Amino acid sequence: MGLFTTAAQLRPIPRSTRFANGAVSFWFRETGVPERRDPLPGTVDYDVCIVGAGYTGLWTAYYLKKAQPDLRVAVVEREFAGYGASGRNGGWLSAEFAGSRERYAQSYGKASMIALQRAMMGTVDEVVSVAGAEGIDADIVKGGMRLVATNAAQRERLVEDIEYLQEWGYWPDDIHMLEEGHKPDIAVEGAVAAAYSPHAARVQPAKLVTGLARVVEALGVALFEGTAVEEIRPRQGASRPAVVTEHGTVYADHVIRATEGFTSALHGRRRDWQPMRSSMIATEPVPAEVWDKIGWEGREVLGDSAHSYVYAQRTADDRIAIGGRSVPHRLGSGEDGDGATQPQSIAELWRALTRMFPDVADVPVEHAWSGVLGVPRDGSPTVHLDTETGLGWAGGYIGSGVATSNLAGRTLRDLVLRRDTDLTRLPWVGHQSRGWEPEPLRWVGTQVVRGLYRSADRRESKIPEEKARTSRLAGIAGRLSGR
Ligand SMILES: Cc1cc2nc3c(=O)[nH]c(=O)nc-3n(C[C@H](O)[C@H](O)[C@H](O)COP(=O)(O)OP(=O)(O)OC[C@H]3O[C@@H](n4cnc5c(N)ncnc54)[C@H](O)[C@@H]3O)c2cc1C
Repeated sequence: MGLFTTAAQLRPIPRSTRFANGAVSFWFRETGVPERRDPLPGTVDYDVCIVGAGYTGLWTAYYLKKAQPDLRVAVVEREFAGYGASGRNGGWLSAEFAGSRERYAQSYGKASMIALQRAMMGTVDEVVSVAGAEGIDADIVKGGMRLVATNAAQRERLVEDIEYLQEWGYWPDDIHMLEEGHKPDIAVEGAVAAAYSPHAARVQPAKLVTGLARVVEALGVALFEGTAVEEIRPRQGASRPAVVTEHGTVYADHVIRATEGFTSALHGRRRDWQPMRSSMIATEPVPAEVWDKIGWEGREVLGDSAHSYVYAQRTADDRIAIGGRSVPHRLGSGEDGDGATQPQSIAELWRALTRMFPDVADVPVEHAWSGVLGVPRDGSPTVHLDTETGLGWAGGYIGSGVATSNLAGRTLRDLVLRRDTDLTRLPWVGHQSRGWEPEPLRWVGTQVVRGLYRSADRRESKIPEEKARTSRLAGIAGRLSGR
């Protein structure tokens, strides 16, 4: 039965003769998977050791080394730089910040949450400018972010969301509804409203992360690949913090855990951040005559307002890459291997793509892949350094890690160097979320929430204009997930 369902789901989808599923991501297929750097040569000693060579780990290394060139910094990576979400994401470098504003404000006041949101806007420009200054060509175009609503309930929610954000640090120039009758720059089928923010850029994620790895290495950071970390030990009495690997141990004054979606696989961290899978598909280059109809000249990153939202970009070579939350993680598992994606997720993404752009239905899909990101129980990201144990970490960015990881890197620099700065006073510093329920409760809960959101989307698409409102099912899902 499962097999037939699978075949039936994929049948209507035109697939390229070069179609690939997994292989890390389309982004790495475009650049080629890099040769691995050497593993850790044995037991060694550094000032700072970072576990994980994604954006979080590499930005932290970058800013530390820039601030203090004689600092001895090592990064230990199980596979290769960018193997995780940093080399697989949707390439939305945006000022979005996950998490409850009220929760952060409770601890430090509303002004500090607003400062955090403003810092996120600055972070988009920071990444664009460092990439330019360091010669990282990551196909970056700062065209902003466009969110569309395709039914009345979505429109109501989008309007409310924008008003809400305008109370929390976005001024009207930073995000606003586009006026009715505004000539659409992107012709999304059935769009009834749209919002726009200039604070976002499109990037090619693998080019950004591999470029960053190259820059960091040139600054003198030791980057060890193919080295799985088995345990992270805190400072205990006279013994220094340590990173234990299959190839030896790294002793350091500070150890930074930068493993986001993989964190729950580390010893003692099972209930920290839930690994959530997100999947993407990329089409073949879309023909010019179809682009003439769609527009999208500004290369904005594009999202919708459904509960089971999608995110999309027009790539440098004129494909559409679109992603969304996929079938939840396998019970008890956070690993995603090389990113092979279930047919159900591919089919759902293709339906979302062709609903938005019916003219793309004939353009073959060339690649499908997925990756894992880390979700804290309360949905709120954190960055932290415990000066007693010498251990630090950052993550739980949910779907907004491309920019947030840069803010984390600069903040970890200040925490490690014991600087009291505007960054170390932001309200996500030291934030602690309660842990996740044990399996199978966590898995069952995730399935239920996903099901409720999907049903809410279906209901909302049928609500008549005059009765437009968010489905109650979404409210139940929100309460169940504790956000
Ligand atoms: C499909 C997808 C689409 C997304 N789209 C967007 C988007 O458009 N915009 C956005 O802002 N965010 C997006 N995100 C989220 C964003 O990509 C992540 O939040 C961000 O990349 C996290 O970076 P990181 O460095 O913390 O973690 P990662 O990039 O996951 O890096 C962690 C690294 O740790 C390594 N590692 C794990 N375990 C060990 C170990 N035991 N020993 C040594 N190394 C280890 C891994 O191999 C990996 O390289 C998306 C995520 C996914 C999966």
